[in-house]
Amino acid sequence: MGTGPRARRSMAETIAGGERSISFEFFPPKDAAGAERLWRAISALEPYDPTFVSVTYGAGGSTRDATVEITGRIARETSLTPMAHLTCVGHTRTEIEKILDTYTEAGVHHVMALRGDPAEGPRASWTSTEGGLDHATELVDLVAGRGDFRIGVAAFPEGHPSAESLDHDADVLVAKARAGAEFAVTQMFFRAEDYFGLVERVRRRGVGPEQLPILPGIMPILNLAAIQRQGELIGTDVPESVVSRIAGAGQDDPARVRAAGIELAAELCDELLAGGAPGLHFYTLNASRATLEIFERLRITA
Ligand code: FAD
Repeated sequence: MGTGPRARRSMAETIAGGERSISFEFFPPKDAAGAERLWRAISALEPYDPTFVSVTYGAGGSTRDATVEITGRIARETSLTPMAHLTCVGHTRTEIEKILDTYTEAGVHHVMALRGDPAEGPRASWTSTEGGLDHATELVDLVAGRGDFRIGVAAFPEGHPSAESLDHDADVLVAKARAGAEFAVTQMFFRAEDYFGLVERVRRRGVGPEQLPILPGIMPILNLAAIQRQGELIGTDVPESVVSRIAGAGQDDPARVRAAGIELAAELCDELLAGGAPGLHFYTLNASRATLEIFERLRITA
């Protein structure tokens, strides 16, 4: 059950124990068929004993309640440790406090503290909510003071699309750690050196791996055009070498494109782990197949 000692294992404890962290990210489904798919994926991935599984927080409306509901159900009905994402978008401080109290009641003790994006998208300028918060650091601070929470934050190997520089971006991540974040998860990226560059910038600022493990976020490319579109929006470059490997697999053969995407993701995972990454965080898109195919290549077993 989600309230046992296993569920309270934190990222820092996992890393200190020398274990490699594996984690999975899901999003709240829109309908009953999507919900069935989500719970199938959760069941298929549960035997891999992830450090945590996270559920994203939507832009508004019912998907926000679904994050609370799904993480609560994971805590109640599975052996997994749920991490609930939470953003500052459109919320007052009081509303955020209420949501955090609901998480506590539901046995959810891991929170991914994010600013979120304006409705116009990640590149639009930020609009404050009256009585609300403007930066993830403020949310980290609030979460840390509100209950017994382990806090994760977002990190950007290529810099946040609105960041003035990579150095300023690293300063922001360090500020989140100093405010109480215990670990970070990165945006998707396709060059291991971007990840290692970020890690080095953070370590140079005096925040060590035991204070802020940085988990690389892995997104296998199963549909090149979709990933390129998303990458443009969030500031992730899809390098030419990756594009040509996928395109070379055969434009008209989805199965071969998929196989190339899985192979590239597995190579990236290998490089990251060999270079000292403390684990891998998989963007599952509520399906288990791609992650399991990567595990097979990495020889990760249940
Ligand atoms: P911040 O850390 O607040 O940074 C936002 C911008 O403000 C950056 O440019 C930063 O440089 C700048 N900044 C921060 N602090 C200061 C300061 N003190 N002074 C000046 N400038 C500052 N979005 C969702 O809506 N729901 C989700 O569930 C979700 N999950 C995510 C999970 C991961 C792993 C990642 C990487 C992103 C996720 N996002 C999610 C997207 C995220 O909300 C956006 O990328 C958002 O634009 C930035 O969030 P942040 O928490 O990094 O914000």
